[in-house]
Amino acid sequence: MHTMRVLIQCLIVGAILFGIISSIRRKKKILALTGMLLAIAATALGGSSVQINETPHGGLAIGLDWFLLDLFLMALIYVPLERLWPQHPKQGTFRKEWTLDVVYFMSTHLPLQILSFLVLLPATQATKYLGVPVLQEFIARMAWFLQFFLAVVVADVAEYFIHLALHKVPFLWRFHAVHHSSKALDWIAGSRSHFVDDTLVRGFILAPLMLGFSQSIILAYLIFVTLHATWTHCNFGPNAKWLEKFLVMPRYHHWHHTSQKESIDKNFAIHFPWIDKLFGTYYFPEEWPAQYGLAGEEISPNFLGQTIEPFIGKKKTS
Ligand SMILES: [Zn+2]
Ligand SMILES: [Zn+2]
Repeated sequence: MHTMRVLIQCLIVGAILFGIISSIRRKKKILALTGMLLAIAATALGGSSVQINETPHGGLAIGLDWFLLDLFLMALIYVPLERLWPQHPKQGTFRKEWTLDVVYFMSTHLPLQILSFLVLLPATQATKYLGVPVLQEFIARMAWFLQFFLAVVVADVAEYFIHLALHKVPFLWRFHAVHHSSKALDWIAGSRSHFVDDTLVRGFILAPLMLGFSQSIILAYLIFVTLHATWTHCNFGPNAKWLEKFLVMPRYHHWHHTSQKESIDKNFAIHFPWIDKLFGTYYFPEEWPAQYGLAGEEISPNFLGQTIEPFIGKKKTS
């Protein structure tokens, strides 16, 4: 608890400091001012010494504070890797459109994570209603690692089909096009996703998992998918040849994001490349793609436009 308070205090001080630096260096001051205002509001509300009325009692529980640290923890893991071994060194952490992706992280990625985890909290126990007892017992008898591996396979097969539909059904593609609109990929570009896209994918993955897997396995999967999906978008150059045949690495998912003709509608799997091999959508040459983004298509450049546009459709651009 003490470490958490120190961390929160550091975050607040950091937010104010970075706000000051940003307001000096950037032309647009609005982000810096919002950040500083939020930090000051946090301090006014009690900051790191805020009183906790109820002490959390044992068991598996994930608090809101964990999620507030999420963005910073993720940045802490991935930004150094991208700075040390970038595939595109000129890109930089604060590339074009990075603020748009931070907005996505906070407004869709974060609430969705919270919701997914909440569904699994002991208090709600959604698995109790969806679970098939025979299946649950059968899976529970396996070793923990085997259960986890099986969960990732089930999740990725489910993800494969909803992802395929998001590409092939024109109405669904409008939503998924937002995710493909990033012209540069890095850890936070992966958060750019319409909330309809996010919800559909999360729902498709969670439903089959809830039939037979225990809450702890599903929780472990949710943590794994958060880390792995973020990782596959990273601007990280080194290739591990022995591993990338089995597990999706950045270069593999980057080919999914290219606007180059040869790789359109390829590499739908998010964990295992061999799932694409199985269904004939595997594309994985030795090099990296040269371009990312939408091929011959334009979408709104801002968050509000990207959120509304898919619902109403837009004029065709040829
Ligand atoms: Zn896609
Ligand atoms: Zn992606």
